[in-house]
Amino acid sequence: MKKIVFVISFLVAIVACTTDDASINSSNNNTNNNTSANQQTTGSSANDLLSDATYTSMLIELVYVEGFEPTQTAINNFVAFLEARTFKPNGITVETRAIASPGNSPYTTTEIRAIEDANRTAYNTENQIAVWAFFADGASANNTSSGVVLGTAYRNTSFVIYEETIHGYSDSALEPNRSVLETTVITHEFGHVLGLTNLGTDLQSDHEDATHPKHCNEEDCLMYWSAETGDGIANLISGGSAPQLDAQCIADLQANGGK
Ligand SMILES: [Zn+2]
Ligand SMILES: [Zn+2]
Repeated sequence: MKKIVFVISFLVAIVACTTDDASINSSNNNTNNNTSANQQTTGSSANDLLSDATYTSMLIELVYVEGFEPTQTAINNFVAFLEARTFKPNGITVETRAIASPGNSPYTTTEIRAIEDANRTAYNTENQIAVWAFFADGASANNTSSGVVLGTAYRNTSFVIYEETIHGYSDSALEPNRSVLETTVITHEFGHVLGLTNLGTDLQSDHEDATHPKHCNEEDCLMYWSAETGDGIANLISGGSAPQLDAQCIADLQANGGK
């Protein structure tokens, strides 16, 4: 019974992950050109991230609240995911750093944007694209009694992982391994940053889930999170590894400059 409850809440969590995609930096008063290129809508920089036409390297600024650092395994899996799908001949670098707790959990996406604006130091340069990844010490304000949000991709080069919530859903009996859950949520959110599914990277085939927009309708795919069918997620939880992108999502990325 506990497992069923977990599966349902996990599904709802991920389904809720892009609810803030449409809103952008209305609260941001920094209009500097250096930063505004990194403050656009989710999915709009997919080609810049996937191809080497403009940016030949990528810098991931990974910032976590003290005590909520993701596992090194999940970071390694994230880099492997990026290397498999993007062309960055001059490399992908991850710089990790801890900050003190912002102290206002649960976090609205507006607050998450403000934390980024106060702490982000890496922005695009002439040939390097920068990404901001924040691991929060609290829950999303969008959690409901029927589900929790584990992560949100909320700008073109920014996503948040609700690491404290992930701690509550991993590493106990009948729960997934923490690094597997982290890998799943990180790569799923970055899939949205890469424009999946139909979120800035054009569909090459008809595989967007009509009932869960911006997600894939292939049940084995990383970008599939329909709450109607739990089999794929049950397999994920018991199988011990994060789901991968299916061929249709990979074809979309390849048509938009990716590998
Ligand atoms: Zn999603
Ligand atoms: Zn897919």
